[in-house]
This record gives sequence, C-alpha cells and structure tokens, in this order.
Amino acid sequence: MSDVFMHNSHRLPVTFARGEGVWLFDTNGKKYLDLSAGIAVNCLGHNYPPLVKAIGEQAAKCNHVCNYYQNDTSMRFAEKLAAACASGGMKNLFLANSGAEANEAACKIARKYSLKKYGPGRHTIVTLRGSFHGRTITMLAATGQDNFHKNFGPFTEGFVYIPSNDIEALEKALDAQTVAGLLIEAVQGESGIRPQSQEFIETAARLCAERDILLMFDEIQCGMGRTGTFLAFEQYRYGGKPIQADVVTLAKSLAGGIPAGVVLAGEKAADVFEIGDHNSTFGGNPVAAAAGLVVLETVNNPTFLAEIARKGEKIMAAIRDWNHSAVREIRGRGLMIGIDIDREAWPILETAIARAGDKNYGLLILSAGEKTLRLLPPYIISDSEIEQGLAVLRELLT
Ligand SMILES: *Cc1c(COP(=O)(O)O)cnc(C)c1O
Repeated sequence: MSDVFMHNSHRLPVTFARGEGVWLFDTNGKKYLDLSAGIAVNCLGHNYPPLVKAIGEQAAKCNHVCNYYQNDTSMRFAEKLAAACASGGMKNLFLANSGAEANEAACKIARKYSLKKYGPGRHTIVTLRGSFHGRTITMLAATGQDNFHKNFGPFTEGFVYIPSNDIEALEKALDAQTVAGLLIEAVQGESGIRPQSQEFIETAARLCAERDILLMFDEIQCGMGRTGTFLAFEQYRYGGKPIQADVVTLAKSLAGGIPAGVVLAGEKAADVFEIGDHNSTFGGNPVAAAAGLVVLETVNNPTFLAEIARKGEKIMAAIRDWNHSAVREIRGRGLMIGIDIDREAWPILETAIARAGDKNYGLLILSAGEKTLRLLPPYIISDSEIEQGLAVLRELLT
C-alpha cells in the first residue's frame, strides 16, 4: 500500500479498479457486493449508464462556471431539487460541495436570522448526542459526540447537545432567549442508525415554531430517498400535517458519486443570505448538477421510493428471521440499516473483504460504532443481490 496518504483513515487491503451496478472489482479482478455505496453516496450503484452519459455530456460542454454567472444545468437541477423538497417547506437553496459545508451554511443562516431579528446573544445551535455533522472545526463542535472534541480546539462556541428522544431536555434546551436553531438528523447515521421518535420530532417542530427557533434537518445521510421517502423527516407529522422545516441539508447521495452538497431554506430563512454573505468556488458545479439531475429524476418517483422501503423491510425481516444469537438489535428505515452484534464489527468488515480471495465474491459493509454493522446499499440492488448479500452476512456472523 502506498504511504503517500496521511494516516487519518483505516484503509482495508483492497484496491478497486471499477464497478458495475452493486458490484465492485479489484485490481486482481475479484468481485465484491457493495452494501456500503461509498458511505451512502453511490445511490444508483456504479457505472449507471444515464449518470455516466449525463456527466460525460456536461463535461464536454463545460466543467465549471462560478456563481458570478448562470448555467442552465445548475439552474435546472436547483429548480427540480427545490421542488422535490417543497412538501417539506423548502423554497430556495445554495449549492455546495460537501455535507460539512452545507451544515456550515445552515448554521450561518440560523445565526444571521436570529441576529437580524433579535440582536446579539441569541446564537446557540442545539444538536443531539450521537449526531454527526461533519469534520470542519465548527461541524466537529456541532457533532454531539465527545470523541470528536479532542485535539483541534479551541472549537467554535455556541453548540449545546441534548440526548436524542429526550423531550424534557429539548423543552429546556430550546431557550427562546439564546437559541437560534435546532439541527437534527431524523435518522442518525454515523452513530448506528438511530431514528428519532415521532413524539420527539413533533415536539421539536412545535417548540421551534412557538419560539421562532429554526428547525434544521441534516439529511446528508438519511435524505435523497435513502429511508424510502425523498426526505427522511417527511415520515414524521406535526398537528397531523407533514413537518415543515426551516432549513434542510443534503449531500452524500445528492449527485450519485460526484461531490455535491446543498442547503435549502423555507419561507423564514429564504432571504437571510444577502450579497456577499456566503459562497463557494465549486458550488453549483455543472458536472455535479448534471449528475444530480439524473439522481433526482430517478429517485424522486413514488414507485422507486416505495421499492427502497420494500427492499429495506425485506433485509430487516430476513435478518430478524434468522434469530441469530450474534444479532442483538436491528434498526432502520428503508436502505439505512444498523445491526447491533455481540462482537467487534471491524474484524467482520475485514473478513467480508478477505472472503473474495477464495470464495466467489467479497462483501462491502460498514460499521457504526464498535459493535454495530451498517448497511447502506445502492437503491438499485435487486432481490437476488439482496439474497446474495444476506447469505454472506449470515455466514460472517457464525
Ligand atoms: C457524512 C455526513 C456529514 C458530513 O458530510 P461530508 O460530505 O463528509 O462533509 C454530515 N452529516 C451527516 C448526517 C453525515 O452523514
């Protein structure tokens, strides 16, 4: 393995050369069933023909124009994306390049909204324990996990954490005098696939509305259809109606493997950013937009979304049916699945890959915490591929 990379990431001993659908092939031609999708990125799998075509065609026209100008591809993507999120209350958006960057913009919007309306001192952002919001210094501060708060201080001030699903703590933390925004994942990803309760989200929506605190959903992992609805928070209700958010962020699956992120804003937050308040050199990149258009047109379709939900249920039901002594708990929504097991997860990831050496294929799965396996397969996985994945997973747990 090359020593050129910094040692900031575990790297498993496999070098991938190409992919096709849910399969990846290493430089020795060995095959792997990919249930990780590059951490929820390759939602349409690898080498998806319409995606490849759109990227190629756009690259042949122009790779990039900055936000000082306009571009039809970026504009069409932005309009379709805003429309796809309109039922969640979204009106307009800023196109960014990554999740952390989108969340940074969300926090900037919450702080400026509050500053303009109420003056200084009302800048706190409340987030949840177990959350993950990215790796910039401010997003590490936003992330409610102590192990992310080492080594890089001083961190950005003004973040407060409360336990997930703790309504009493939520009531107390959402102080109308000091809090600008609440940032939550409807289904926490990094910490082990943990959905919030209906009661918690409903209370959050009510308190945020009553206290004029921006309700912000980090849908970077759970959005873009992953949970079987276009946005994960669409599965929650407030007063019998769909939740209306003030700010939503998306990234990961947004452009099917090309880097892209977005912050969307609802009525309250739509005009907070004024000229000069925010920008990004690569933001709105036409190649990413062309890819994003294909993802949107494919995923934001009731039949396609229902299939994601069905496939997820199929996987979870099958694992429950094993009644396997190594399996402690299964959580998930759609194709976002966490499996708590009775042993360390990392060695299983290694065995799953090593298996390609002497068996017909290896398996790519993720962990989330020490003893949780995480599955984030491409949406296009077929029933027979699900069965092939489950067979290996079961074998790995014995
Ligand atoms: C991955 C992730 C991020 C960070 O996204 P990057 O593109 O890595 O900056 C933020 N929030 C959630 C929920 C994520 O899963």
